Formats: sequence, C-alpha cells, structure tokens
Amino acid sequence: MLYTSTRGQTEMICSAHAIAQGLADDGGLFMPQEFAHLSMTEICAMRKLPYGERAITVLSRFLTDFTEEELTECITKAYSKEKFSGFPVPLRQVKDNADVLELWHGPTAAFKDMALQILPLLLTRAVKKTGEQMKLVILVATSGDTGKAALAGFADIPGTEVIVFYPEEGVSDIQKRQMITQQGNNVHVVAVKGNFDDAQTGVKTLFGDKALTKELKEHNCAFSSANSINWGRLVPQIVYYFSAYADAVNAGRIKAGDLVNFSVPTGNFGDILAGFFAKIMGLPVNKFICASNSNKVLTDFINTGTYDKRREFYRTISPSMDILVSSNLERLLYVETEDNATQVAQWMNQLKETGVYSVGKNLQSKILQDFFGTWVDEFETKETIGNVYRDEKYLMDPHTAVAWRAMEKYRLLTSDETYCIVLSTASPFKFSTAVLEAIRPNEDFSGLGTFAELKKLEEISGLKIPLQMAALEKLPVLHEDVVEKTELESTVKKILGI
Ligand SMILES: *Cc1c(COP(=O)(O)O)cnc(C)c1O
Repeated sequence: MLYTSTRGQTEMICSAHAIAQGLADDGGLFMPQEFAHLSMTEICAMRKLPYGERAITVLSRFLTDFTEEELTECITKAYSKEKFSGFPVPLRQVKDNADVLELWHGPTAAFKDMALQILPLLLTRAVKKTGEQMKLVILVATSGDTGKAALAGFADIPGTEVIVFYPEEGVSDIQKRQMITQQGNNVHVVAVKGNFDDAQTGVKTLFGDKALTKELKEHNCAFSSANSINWGRLVPQIVYYFSAYADAVNAGRIKAGDLVNFSVPTGNFGDILAGFFAKIMGLPVNKFICASNSNKVLTDFINTGTYDKRREFYRTISPSMDILVSSNLERLLYVETEDNATQVAQWMNQLKETGVYSVGKNLQSKILQDFFGTWVDEFETKETIGNVYRDEKYLMDPHTAVAWRAMEKYRLLTSDETYCIVLSTASPFKFSTAVLEAIRPNEDFSGLGTFAELKKLEEISGLKIPLQMAALEKLPVLHEDVVEKTELESTVKKILGI
C-alpha cells in the first residue's frame, strides 16, 4: 500500500517512508491510497483474540512493507505486561446503553501511550528500511501529556535521542514531576523560561533551520517528530475502536452487526479520526460525537462549515483539548473531498494566511452524516464528573466528562439512544484537583499539595492511585536544566555534542 500527501505535491511512498518522514515535503499529511475492508466475520474473529493480535489484524493492512514478524515484535513490546497492567483497553459498563473505553492504563496514565509506546519501535524500524543509518533526534515541545508519553516511549530506544522542552511555569506539578524524573540514557528534559508558545515556536524554528539540519547531517543525526500528525501515531489508534466493538459483542451489550456511536474528547482530531477510519474499513458506526471544551472551534466548524481560529483561547480543566488548530482535520477534508488535494491545499493556505476557511454546504452536510459536534463548559464538566460518580459509581477525569456530557447533549437533541462508547483518555488521578472539587464541591482542598491530593482521592473513591504516579513521590529528580527561550539551539547542540 502506498501513501500520498493531502496536498498532492509529492511522490507516492511506502509506509516506512511516510513514518520516517512524518510530514510530507509539501506541508501536507500522509494518507493511504486506499483503505482495506474488514468483514463482520473478521471483526468478530477479534472477539477471542488478545489485544496484540487484534492490533496485528489492523496494522498489517496499512503497514504492508513491514513483515508480520516485525509488526508482532513492535506490538508485543509496546503493549507488554510491564507497560500495561492487564488488558490495555478495558471496556467498562457504566449505564444501560453507554460504556466507557479506558485508554489510560499505560505508563503515563493518558491515552497518548496507546500510540507513543509503539511509534518509537515503528519509527526506528522504518528508518532502517529506508536505508538511513542516522541517529534520530526527537524534538518535542509540550504543554504536558505529550512530553511524558514521548519520553516514556523513546527511553533507551537505540538510535534515538529525545529532547523535550516544556514551559517552566506552564505545566501541572504532576506533569512536571513525570518529566523531570524520567530515566533513560537518551532522554533530555529542559525547562524553558516562557510559555508553551515560546517553547513550541522555538522547536518549530529548529525544525525549519536549514543550516542546523545540515550540521546535524554531518554528524549523522536527523530531526524527527513524535507529534500526532505522524501516520505511525494514527494507525495504532484505529485498533482500539475494533477492539471495543468486539468486547461490546463479547459482553452482550450489542449483537454482531449492530450500529454503535462513539463519543470522543477531541483536541487535535487524531483520536476521533482513527475511529472514522475504522468506519471506512467496515466497523458499523452510526455517529461520532466530536466533544470539545470551551475551545469549541471544531463544534463551530461541524455546525457551520467554517473553520475560524481567530478567537480567544481558554485554559480549561481539560487542558489536553485546549487547541485552536486541529491538524488532523486536514485528513478528514481529504477523504470527504474524495482526495481533492488542490482544494485541501487551498483551505490550509487560507487558514495560514487569514486564520479562516469555509468548506461549503455540500461538504458540511457530508461531514454531518458521520459527525455530531458539541461542546461542554467548565461548570458542566465538573457537574458531569459529580453526577456520574454519584449515580453510576464511576469516576472519570475532566476530558472523559466532556465526552460523556456531549453524548447526553446529543441524545437530548436527536433522541438517538443507540448504544454509545465514550472514550476515556486520562486517569482521574492525573487531574485530581478538578476531580476532587467535582465530587466534593463543599470541601476545601486548596493547599493540600499534589501527593496529598492523590491520597485524598484514593481515600474518597476507594480506587488505587496508578502505580507509576504513586512512585513519582520517591523518584529522584534527574533533569534540572532551565534555559532562556533564545537558547534552544545551543542546548540541542550541547546535548548532541556538536
Ligand atoms: C491528547 C489528548 C486528547 C485529545 O486527543 P486528540 O487526538 O488530540 O484529539 C484528549 N484527552 C487527553 C487526556 C489527551 O491527552
């Protein structure tokens, strides 16, 4: 299977190339030329398989230039018992016709592990296949979750060096701890004096610096990105949609062939897009509920056909969805225009130049056949955590609560009561401040401090703090560097010894 750019100005390439390269030369994203189809018999065959074998079924349809042995090796390592305790993506029964798919049982307690545990393995094999012998330098600017997930995924992977820049004052205490205690002989974590934009702009400048790229090459190194536009991050996410369906049949929640809905807490549009790809491959899905927080640029796009990023940016209690440019939406536009790369390139150009583009009524109504867009404010998010905890005895994090409430809004508005799977993207312990406030609104937890908060939540809920989070309190701090935002280049050079 070959891959092509959503902007149409590049040659067709194989999946190894697409993964090694990340972003196409014309600025577009890589897309497979076609989608394999899985029959209901093949989907049902997954019912008896462990997660790793479900993953092989899907990955082997896309990464056709990887051998089955290579894929098996990557998958086995990525989703091993050491990384995920128990079944990686359990489906929890919460209500009569709504369940939660927990995607946060990996090393960093957030769903990014599902892709970032396997991406480094795919990436290093992909680079070998393309004949390059370069050391990959993974540069990451992070506002929290991605940095830790990338560190955990790339730690001690031969042939890679991972450098994470985070804003000194811009991440939560637990996120900072997760990063500065990271072990591994190829990991580097650096605080930047500034906000997330300063770190992100700095990293983008390094990626685009031709002189630096050349200097790296002379030292047998090349920059690479672990960011969610890489095809190698998207394809592992398709797997859990099939897995959830198979388990819903196993649990007697649906019959094989029944339509289901999915509600997905959405930021960069990667997670929900993977679900849409599963539908293209034959998974019986009625609607994808695209759930946003107050940064509701996607809700507005789905409901008007106009994408307009010229708006106020809000910091919310679901920070991993605080995003105004959802990069993976470009892939949806490519599919919905039936691969009209010229049109997609035009819209993306308009977005860059003016901050806005419109896709027109026809395309919008096509999108509405598969997607429903709605948003949930801060008050509703906390109220939902409280309500579901009280009524269903299920504790969810703020991102998951946004998706749960979005499902409720969808049902009220459409009267469509189809069985719905809500994707849960983080452990409630990862956002303990907001969760405590939500389930005990009349108590004052301020001034407790991170670890006392975790213990309080454990005590109240009777749930266990994820082991890897409990361990943070005792882990030594290994990364203490703080740099000015003008010092990113010199920092990278120092780390690489060039
Ligand atoms: C990244 C993230 C999301 C958003 O996923 P996208 O693929 O960017 O839409 C939602 N919740 C959590 C906890 C995340 O880390």
